[in-house]
Amino acid sequence: MDCVFCKIVKGEIPSKKVYEDGNVIAFLDINPLSEGHTLVIPKKHAENIFDVSEEELSKVMQVVKKISKKRLEEGAKGVNILQNNGKEAGQLVNHIHFHVVPRNGNDKLRFWP
Ligand code: AMP
Ligand code: ZN
Repeated sequence: MDCVFCKIVKGEIPSKKVYEDGNVIAFLDINPLSEGHTLVIPKKHAENIFDVSEEELSKVMQVVKKISKKRLEEGAKGVNILQNNGKEAGQLVNHIHFHVVPRNGNDKLRFWP
């Protein structure tokens, strides 16, 4: 299967990993929306929320929480947690991933109309 995030899991393409355990990895987004923008994924391929098992999802979410707390400790004022499902929803990489986007009072990001 030609999946860019599976290749990151296998180390076939480089990434800036910030967390790894037996089931989950987190790495910096190559095109960050803010400093420290991190993607959290299960090592086992699943396309999106419709496809992932509850067990895998809960393992991923535990890491999403860890990374979020770390970013806060590092100085972020808050984080947005984003996750797109399906092309129409803006999903570009078909391996489920959660975006953890650190926020600061003066950034110009806007995720909600
Ligand atoms: P999405 O629209 O939710 O599918 O977002 C995919 C995200 O993956 C984007 O924010 C990309 O910048 C990011 N991305 C794509 N390829 C890589 C890569 N090789 N390493 C790190 N991040 C990537
Ligand atoms: Zn994959």
